[in-house]
Amino acid sequence: MGTQVAINMASIVLFGPPGAGKGTQAALIMSETGLPQVSTGDMLRAALAEGSALGLEAKKYMDAGLLVPDSVIIGLIEERVKEDDASEGVLFDGFPRTIAQAEALSQIEEVDAVISIEVPDEKIVDRICGRYSCADCGAVYHDTFNPSAEQGICDSCTSTQLKRRADDNEETVRSRLEAYHSQTAPLALWYDERGKLIVVDGDRDISEVGNDILSGMAGFGD
Ligand code: ADP
Ligand code: ADP
Ligand code: ZN
Repeated sequence: MGTQVAINMASIVLFGPPGAGKGTQAALIMSETGLPQVSTGDMLRAALAEGSALGLEAKKYMDAGLLVPDSVIIGLIEERVKEDDASEGVLFDGFPRTIAQAEALSQIEEVDAVISIEVPDEKIVDRICGRYSCADCGAVYHDTFNPSAEQGICDSCTSTQLKRRADDNEETVRSRLEAYHSQTAPLALWYDERGKLIVVDGDRDISEVGNDILSGMAGFGD
């Protein structure tokens, strides 16, 4: 049973460095708000798995730990928010990641709150290098912090398709962190100036971070 907080919002953005716990906390926010998760990283990986031209183009950047060009990302989002399930808003995960993306988003969708999950760089490499996730339901796990109960079997859906991501290695993580600090982190101030930012300390247990997110959202706009 979820915490009973009256959460009635349009779109929400989950913001933070790679490995901050955005995907992990997205599951909780989805169950509390009913908003569908829109992860640009997942969309790019799906495009790549289909072998589309867009996916193959994006792969070059993803493998190098660089941001995919804004025009590609904005095009994906423009199409995604037209779908039926997005009519009441969505939960953006890993988007926007540049000021240009945020400006484009402000033209197409009302953002009510941006939840910034803060985790220091020195914790990120461990989180990313131990991450694996379920290919069937998307549940996120970690070798040490939250292993799936039975080795090799997803706790949420009992799938055995537990996968690691090609870009989850130490070298790529360093580039991703650099991209985060130079291109994405300035967005926190951009949203704070617009009165949208909720900051949460992400360097604690998953359940504590989740509770803070829910209370931050419930108190928001008071
Ligand atoms: P993001 O979507 O921000 O890249 P994830 O949700 O995929 O981050 O989490 C990255 C890794 O860190 C995963 O292996 C996840 O299990 C783990 N993780 C998430 N939140 C925490 C936490 N609060 N404490 C420790 N590990 C965590
Ligand atoms: P993480 O949260 O672990 O960094 P994501 O799955 O969100 O991982 O993103 C993986 C990769 O996909 C990024 O390193 C980047 O190359 C690309 N990507 C995802 N979302 C965006 C975005 N909004 N803008 C630019 N590139 C993106
Ligand atoms: Zn699963």
